[in-house]
Amino acid sequence: MKDNVRETHPAIENILSRIKTNSHSRILIFGNGCVGKLIYKTLRDAGLNEPVSFVDNNYQNLGVMSPSEASGISGALWIIGSEQFNDEMIRQAIQLGVDESDICCDLQLLTMIQRRIYLTVEYEIVDHCNLNCAGCLNFCQHAKPRFAVLDEFKLTFARYLRIVGEQLAWFGIMGGEPLLHPQVSEFLILSREMYQGKIILTTNGLLLQKMPSKFWKTCHNNRIDIIVSAYPVHLKYSKIVELADFHNVNIEIKSKSDAHAWSYISLTRGGGGAMQNRTSPLVRSSLAQK
Ligand code: SF4
Repeated sequence: MKDNVRETHPAIENILSRIKTNSHSRILIFGNGCVGKLIYKTLRDAGLNEPVSFVDNNYQNLGVMSPSEASGISGALWIIGSEQFNDEMIRQAIQLGVDESDICCDLQLLTMIQRRIYLTVEYEIVDHCNLNCAGCLNFCQHAKPRFAVLDEFKLTFARYLRIVGEQLAWFGIMGGEPLLHPQVSEFLILSREMYQGKIILTTNGLLLQKMPSKFWKTCHNNRIDIIVSAYPVHLKYSKIVELADFHNVNIEIKSKSDAHAWSYISLTRGGGGAMQNRTSPLVRSSLAQK
């Protein structure tokens, strides 16, 4: 490990100093999912030089070490790479004979990593909607028509990317009902030019079957995933899925029970929540709860 530990998160510093103090010659990250991989990247970025292996109960499919194989390695520090299953994983490691002092489960680190994984942001390209749901969380049923402007979006999104950049798990275009915006395709193309990660268009789906082929080509060419929020309306969702399949576009029909818990921030005019700032283009940010 490098001696000059770079300035970094206290949880990472703790792990690095623990490795140094106890002369761990090998690091085993227990959990080969997104969390484990981000722990690996964060430790490497912070200067960790020791060899690292991934350990997972699903070792056959993932091509990594099994817990029982890993338990035979002496002098290793086991870093738990799951917030959800940390208790079970600690218990399993101990049952396999790993000394408790060689297991690191830092909840501060896991929380930080989870937040990085699930940092998402959505941009509302219209405020109004073609449905009138009584329980609309965005109060779209009361919104006057507003169409976001491409140049303004470009500036806002560029600023946001400069701040959160690599931490963004996915980016979304939404509304109101985003398909009401005549330039929805242009927003999607620009989003893809600016951001290479996952891009999601969230719609109530009412207009999908009427969208021109240009829209579907845009979604296909720019790897846009569509999420349809399903409501109790007379829509043949199976036909919509067929249409998306025909155009080779990923689509998911989402019922209300899948809903995430959202928090709202505005990145345009002095912060505040969506409900306090209905007239400005809004970016909605979330820590999606698993
Ligand atoms: S479809 Fe969605 S955005 Fe439109 S009114 Fe209903 S809940 Fe609000």
